[in-house]
Amino acid sequence: MPTFGPAPTPAPISLPRDGSVPYLHRIETTQKVAFLTIDDGVVKHPEAAALLRAAHVPVTLFLTTDAVRDDPDYFKPLIDAGAVVEAHTISHPDLRGKPYATQKRQICGSADKLAAWYGRRPVLFRPPFGSEDATTRRAAADCGMKASFMWRETVDKGKVRYQEGKRVQPGDIILMHFRPAFVKDFLAALRAIRRAGLTPALLEDYVR
Ligand SMILES: [Zn+2]
Repeated sequence: MPTFGPAPTPAPISLPRDGSVPYLHRIETTQKVAFLTIDDGVVKHPEAAALLRAAHVPVTLFLTTDAVRDDPDYFKPLIDAGAVVEAHTISHPDLRGKPYATQKRQICGSADKLAAWYGRRPVLFRPPFGSEDATTRRAAADCGMKASFMWRETVDKGKVRYQEGKRVQPGDIILMHFRPAFVKDFLAALRAIRRAGLTPALLEDYVR
């Protein structure tokens, strides 16, 4: 298990409030931090909570409510271990090109359900497949979201894939999923952050 020094005091970025959320691939910062995000919630690996507790790192979970509704309680020990739950729609559709009402129902509906389950209403959003349009950004703002997030690195089957270069950069957002290889993926992500001389930080601390 990689170990990290304390994360720096967060210097949050300011986001525009103009009725449309920004769509960010990374946090514009020179602080030596990276952000680990874990999506969907389909495979509920029995070791995830213990792993998160042992790692002492913050993570953001973009949960699809249809994927977690069979066992919402599974995620409560993860939240106790430092995970923060954010919105990722109800049924994981490709939102691009969909009517405003459909997009708004997917975003607001998932945020409302997550709030009911976990006692905190999400303020961040990730569109399924990273696919979105101007309507998504407007609907997300109308649902109370502050920002919408893509990613710079993905982790699957224990392997980190980079969109650019071979190293995690300060402010990068890393994407993994609740999959059978959860343990391998989580450790691979932490090792990549460690190798880059960065510390995991909480995405929510960097957006005002
Ligand atoms: Zn997803």
